[in-house]
Amino acid sequence: MRNYLKHYINGEWVDSTGSETEEVINPATEEVIGKISLGTKEDLDKAVKAARDAFPSFSQTTKEERVEMLENIAKEYENRKEDIIETITDELGSPLEISENIHFMMGYNHFSQAAESLKNFSFIEEHDGHTRMKESIGVSGLITPWNFPTNQTSTKIASAFAAGSPVVLKPAELTPFAAVILTEIFDKVGVPKGVFNLVNGSGSVIGDGISSHPDIDFVSFTGSGATGEKIMKNASETIKKVALELGGKSPLIVLEDANVEEAAKAAVGHIATNSGQVCSAATRTLIPASMKEEFEEAMKKSLSEFPVGDPRQGNHIGPLVSKKQWDTVQSYIEKGIEEGATMIAGGTGKPEGLDKGYYTKPTIFTDVDNQMVIAQEEIFGPVMTVLTYDTLEEAIETANETIYGLAGYVYGKDPAMLRKAASGIRAGRVKVNDTEADFSSPFGGFKQSGIGREWGDYGIEEYLEVKTILGYP
Ligand code: NAP
Ligand code: MG
Repeated sequence: MRNYLKHYINGEWVDSTGSETEEVINPATEEVIGKISLGTKEDLDKAVKAARDAFPSFSQTTKEERVEMLENIAKEYENRKEDIIETITDELGSPLEISENIHFMMGYNHFSQAAESLKNFSFIEEHDGHTRMKESIGVSGLITPWNFPTNQTSTKIASAFAAGSPVVLKPAELTPFAAVILTEIFDKVGVPKGVFNLVNGSGSVIGDGISSHPDIDFVSFTGSGATGEKIMKNASETIKKVALELGGKSPLIVLEDANVEEAAKAAVGHIATNSGQVCSAATRTLIPASMKEEFEEAMKKSLSEFPVGDPRQGNHIGPLVSKKQWDTVQSYIEKGIEEGATMIAGGTGKPEGLDKGYYTKPTIFTDVDNQMVIAQEEIFGPVMTVLTYDTLEEAIETANETIYGLAGYVYGKDPAMLRKAASGIRAGRVKVNDTEADFSSPFGGFKQSGIGREWGDYGIEEYLEVKTILGYP
């Protein structure tokens, strides 16, 4: 049992001032695996004060000192590899290989990338005889969701540390334990007291408290659009800068000359990975009408290679994170059936033999019209919608007919067509074929997918203010 009833404030594990606790559930077994304290506004105030007190000295540390700190964090993070993998599999239900190759690796990459980006980062520049300085924004409040317990926390923390901004973190109640390990890492490597503070608790108390706190200068949030909206409203009262990384309904455009098997496998991979609980997942696959039968067959075949089951037993798709998420996904599958889409795989209910755990059937809908609810709303589960198109212009137009703009994917061969599709998609990140991930490239959304960019040097910029000095001697 992991009982983490303390918060980490001003360099120490401290008791909560409240007595409320929350149980953490393993979604694969539905068993309680531990508890956290639900922090109070008083706990938050203490954490913000610690961060504020740390600001004058931390913001004046040298770039070299902060590079060293980030490198030490990356090293210690690596030492905790096994713990991190086990913890994420327990609290999120992600298969061990996903916990290792995606969750563990993403956190590691953000810390080491931030160190690299910082080495080449310029905090002072001359322009036409005048000087521009980039200075730490102040105290940052970080609010993170449950679907990537180390990725979203690490990218925010690494960028803030690189910029010299002390932070207060509130992780998601559903998956709070990975953040406890991160805290232990920062403690071990000697992050100066007050520079990192962890306050566990609910969104409505601690999250709300962060976004309205007069002594927090910047809020970086990842999660749902509905919460993003509340945070922006709250932050407006103290004219706080906000960065929002929200949802998506990302398109994957398959060109006529694409390798059908590869593209179908990639599409299925999007709903399989992390049980489809990925903000940047492709969930609308657009294929040439002439390719329909062949592509559907290839998708069905590919799906059979992603077994659903116990995340500790080598399966590729684990459960959804919670009963609530399971109910949401079920209702979208029902909606797709009701809307008249053709279901070629999956369906409602639990997969056979998996009665315990929040498992759901990976589901593929074809004959989908882009106006359907299942084509417009973020489902956040293993549900794919397949749409057909006749011309590339039409595909691009359909791809962009959404309130979101987080990511896009293009499969094909002809460079001119690939370029046309990639540049036509209105999204913050477009990936062509199987190009590898790159942690120095900015990540973030157009339209209602968010405001701001994370990762690499763009991530660091978010935690900085620009100062102009005219006539700097
Ligand atoms: P959420 O409510 O937006 O939660 C994200 C974070 O915000 C959590 O730490 C949450 O705290 C906190 N929060 C909740 N209410 C808040 C408030 N009023 N003020 C400040 N912070 C607040 O997301 P969710 O309920 O976990 O998931 C719902 C849907 O959001 C999903 O189905 C999915 O569509 C979308 N989602 C998107 C992403 C993404 O990466 N873009 C990630 C997760 C979810 P607590 O949960 O601890 O109370
Ligand atoms: Mg859980």
